[in-house]
Amino acid sequence: MELGQAPDQGSLLLHFARNGDFGPEGSELLVLERGEGPYVFDTRGRRYIDGLSSLFCCQLGYSYGAEFAKVAAAQLERLAFNTNWATATPPAIELANRLSELAPTGPGTKVFLTNGGSESVEAAWKLARQFHLANGEPRRTVAIARDVAYHGVTLGALALTGVERFKDPFGPPAIPTRHVANTSSFRDERGEDELCEALIAELEKAIEAAGPENVAAIFAEPVQNAGGCLVPPRGYWPRLSELARRHGILLVADEVITGIGRLGHWFGVSRYGGEPDIVTSAKGLTAAQAPMGAVLVSERVAEPLYRERATLLHGITFGGHPVAAAIALRNLELFESEGVLENVLALEPHLRARMEELTALPIVGDVRGAGFFWAAELVRDEENGRFDADERERLLRGFLPGRLLEAGLIARADDRGDSVVQIAPPLICDRTQLDEVVDALAAVLADASEFMGIGRSAGSAVRA
Ligand code: PLP
Repeated sequence: MELGQAPDQGSLLLHFARNGDFGPEGSELLVLERGEGPYVFDTRGRRYIDGLSSLFCCQLGYSYGAEFAKVAAAQLERLAFNTNWATATPPAIELANRLSELAPTGPGTKVFLTNGGSESVEAAWKLARQFHLANGEPRRTVAIARDVAYHGVTLGALALTGVERFKDPFGPPAIPTRHVANTSSFRDERGEDELCEALIAELEKAIEAAGPENVAAIFAEPVQNAGGCLVPPRGYWPRLSELARRHGILLVADEVITGIGRLGHWFGVSRYGGEPDIVTSAKGLTAAQAPMGAVLVSERVAEPLYRERATLLHGITFGGHPVAAAIALRNLELFESEGVLENVLALEPHLRARMEELTALPIVGDVRGAGFFWAAELVRDEENGRFDADERERLLRGFLPGRLLEAGLIARADDRGDSVVQIAPPLICDRTQLDEVVDALAAVLADASEFMGIGRSAGSAVRA
């Protein structure tokens, strides 16, 4: 496709998209072909600031290609590929060792490498099952996850996902899963401690209802993405960890988004005092320079896999691909040499304050998040009313996607739960670039208020 030419979808099926919407009669397809710093450029040469890090992946933005190309080329020349099916490569071993050092699952953590988030979630489930089987508890077959949470779309991960419309077409869930309330606190009159108490009580009830001896694992994100950056109330993760431990249930922190610096820590669960048994990672692990995921397994949970004649009954051909592993290792090095975690922590207060300003707009009912991971919840009136289906169609699918791009901003309008706009800028953004993201978002949301005919002056408090 030549620069300046109208992009054409060709034969490509777009993921989670209305494929029929694009083309001469419909919306223009955004085709990105180049990046630089936190900016990306489409095939017509238009520049956007990537306020979403390409779906929460490009932690370092787009200027480290030459660095990554070097390590990728070196690995391709030395050994392009070997599997981790009872063999290994040096980069895969080195990456596992490095992740083990960084893991919030304690010393002796073992690492299973995958190609992405859904694979990590499913591997976590199988590892949990094998742990219980090895310890004489075969009846632990039930999972617990949270409403509206997204854990992926392959059939096992889909069972854990709490978005009914993604699941309904595909029949009974592959994993029997009970969903409990997420940590949304907007529109909730209760204080933080009371909310925490209620959420833990509900979990306890769900465990009792399933029979504690039947529950294998609880899956939760440190800050839940779907629903719009749902931060946990104070004390939630320690209570969740205690509850799981007391019932012999494994706690899985799904850090596919929140891990690798998104919240200013290697893993977000550390920020909230959680003690998971298993952690899933993907997206930012390679800063998206190659597809890769990982499952971090505590020494205790991995122990049965080392017993005599025990076999890990799971494997993925490309899991731990040496080129991706070499890239991931370089990414983790760059995080240190570039001070990426420090950058996120230093600029979080500024980003929080700037996002907080959005609550002055009539359409913004709430702003919440942590690190470089923020959502504004959109409301239809002063009473924080929710948009109905037609309004969501007009606002989230009609107005916002095009207007955001016009403003030169890539951000996400989403209604898997309530209506939100989310940002998750590359972790290398400086203060000016973060301002650029929020300024563009503010302009778009001011227009959105007008477009939807909403007018009022006050907003609500920020939570984090
Ligand atoms: N888990 C979480 C928390 C996610 O956000 C996602 C994807 O967005 C997944 C799992 C699935 O990851 P993937 O799309 O790489 O399969």
